[in-house]
Amino acid sequence: MRLDTLGVDESVSILFPPEILVEELAGLPVTTTVVNGSHGLDDCQAVVTFDYWDACDDLGWVHSIQSGVDQFPFDRMRAADVALTNSTGIHGDAIGETVAGYALAFSRRLHEHVANQGEATWSPPEWDDAWTVRGERACVVGLGTLGRGVVDRLTGLGVEITGVRRTPTPEPGVDEVYTPSELRDAVSNARFVVAAVPLTDDTRGLLDADVLAAMREDAYLINVARGAVVDQPALVSALEDGEIAGAALDVFETEPLPDSSPLWGMDEVIVSPHCAGFTHRYHKHVGSIVAENVERLQVGNDLINRVV
Ligand code: NDP
Repeated sequence: MRLDTLGVDESVSILFPPEILVEELAGLPVTTTVVNGSHGLDDCQAVVTFDYWDACDDLGWVHSIQSGVDQFPFDRMRAADVALTNSTGIHGDAIGETVAGYALAFSRRLHEHVANQGEATWSPPEWDDAWTVRGERACVVGLGTLGRGVVDRLTGLGVEITGVRRTPTPEPGVDEVYTPSELRDAVSNARFVVAAVPLTDDTRGLLDADVLAAMREDAYLINVARGAVVDQPALVSALEDGEIAGAALDVFETEPLPDSSPLWGMDEVIVSPHCAGFTHRYHKHVGSIVAENVERLQVGNDLINRVV
């Protein structure tokens, strides 16, 4: 496809102001402007976006600023001959650090101190409430960019790692790699279970009541993938019944998490607003993938990170 005009849709403002990505891409041999796809995309041939709009059907290329593209209409895009690329590859550092933060909050009881501070309450934990993560085990479900970032941070803290992915080949820093059919075995001896898979037909509800029941009673579930990867009602029951110790959740079946959710009020649950991958350099990381693909289009090479 020939590319002269590239839009940066206003919907990217969920992660960064669109203008700063336009600035970041200023050196490219295309005219780049901020656009509003909900009003049409007549002036561009490709768009960098968070949302998919009807007008995207008329473009040659759509780039998602997220890694997860489960909300994009794959069949419709194929029928309309629209290429879709995503932003996988850029989230390892931010997600790895966030997951390490959740793990340390639980072990060092930091979430409890923050809650107590809000009440101006001086309340040290019981002598045996605090623990250290060294020598504990984490089961990381999904060993792509996110999983790799998590493995690197947790092994640095002395945590031992079990991994899960469909391709059971060895992975540095991971003692054993299981397949999804062995998920219950894989989680059974872990203190942390970390969901880091894309949301697909295969992973919807992957962490269900059976998997939660297979976890240790002192284990914590960490979900930085997509809410629907976990059976949320089953998770709420497992937390209420003490089947697992707690959870750190960045993503939910419904976002924002509704006021009525019991998850808000649970002492051993950390809720974050789908921001585990945020960093002030996010636009630069997205910009480097977009720039690489603009250059590839100029010389007729295949796009990187192509999903459709
Ligand atoms: P990658 O494509 O780099 O990695 C995906 C990993 O999941 C691979 O190891 C893959 O291995 C594995 N996988 C895929 N399907 C299955 C399955 N059915 N069972 C077990 N493992 C599976 O993706 P990223 O790491 O970049 O991102 C993963 C997801 O995390 C995104 O799709 C997105 O939904 C979410 N995300 C959330 C963010 C946040 O802010 N909370 C930020 C960024 C991403 P294999 O193919 O061998 O199975």
